[in-house]
Amino acid sequence: MAICGVVLARPGEVALEGIDVAAPGPGEVLVRIEATGVCHSDLHVIEEDGWGHPLPVLLGHEGAGTVEAVGEADVEVHLHRGDRVVLGWKAACGKCPTCLRGDPRRCARPPAAPGRLFRKNGDELTPVLRTGTFATHTVVPTAAVVKVPPQLPPEQACLIGCAVATGVMSVLETARVWEGARVAVIGCGAVGLSVVQGARLAGASEIRAIDLDPRKLEQAKRFGATHTEPGPVDFVFDVVGRRETFAQALGLIRTGGTVVLIGLSPAGEKVEVELPKLFARRARLLVSHGGDHLPEEDFPRLAQWALEGKLDLASMVTRTAPLEAWSEALEAMKDGSVIRTVLTP
Ligand SMILES: [Zn+2]
Ligand SMILES: [Zn+2]
Repeated sequence: MAICGVVLARPGEVALEGIDVAAPGPGEVLVRIEATGVCHSDLHVIEEDGWGHPLPVLLGHEGAGTVEAVGEADVEVHLHRGDRVVLGWKAACGKCPTCLRGDPRRCARPPAAPGRLFRKNGDELTPVLRTGTFATHTVVPTAAVVKVPPQLPPEQACLIGCAVATGVMSVLETARVWEGARVAVIGCGAVGLSVVQGARLAGASEIRAIDLDPRKLEQAKRFGATHTEPGPVDFVFDVVGRRETFAQALGLIRTGGTVVLIGLSPAGEKVEVELPKLFARRARLLVSHGGDHLPEEDFPRLAQWALEGKLDLASMVTRTAPLEAWSEALEAMKDGSVIRTVLTP
């Protein structure tokens, strides 16, 4: 069947193209994408020439939509045509050493996998993080498809697939922030604001938003930040991942404090750490890989919190736009004028 999607064909060469998609095979699902958030990782994929994904790449990984077809020979079908779903790029493989020792949240499966999507000239496309959502349709493994209540609008539901799961689960799963803890967040884009919301859900007593952009600090206050300047805290979430922000994070923790690295650093980024200081602080350093989220466990509860009004997804959608506006959406993210643009193919 013919669909269209945004393809990184060669380094620096991105365009909306016609794509052929083969019918889903065993263990696969065809999803009609109704909404897809434009995330920093998509920019990262473009700027890092595929970021480990073999080119050509179908961009997008934060998607929600409707099941159109399920692979025939799939014996464990829990999905049906018409189900509202969110795509999960972190579905655990169940086979790697980390999964086998019972820690699927830290599954070590590589992010790229061959798909059923082809360019007009026959090149096989690699969908970003096995999802590829900047498209009218995509084919994904059954494990990557999570049903959510249809009452949640797709333009909100899609955010659960990356930014919200990453931010909220960094707090609740990676760091396990306790009630009454003091928390700081460096970088207040969609993920940072989700950290703020996660800290609020965890019952943090203090939530400090740190960002160079005063517009983002104002937004952070609306999502639950209590302060907009740095101060000593128990947990710091570095959503930026640059040497300056990580050094700042190390400087903010109190004794026994935890620094959580969430942001994707540019290739080769390094930071100098004063080890005696780290030792004296009894510091913990954690890496949050997308909040170590497990789609099948976390998406339904995040969706439920959104429906109950505990998690504000609606305010995170600054604007919606057609798929054709992908380029403006990436620009708007770069200049910080939006929390999220959601494309509605
Ligand atoms: Zn695994
Ligand atoms: Zn993302």
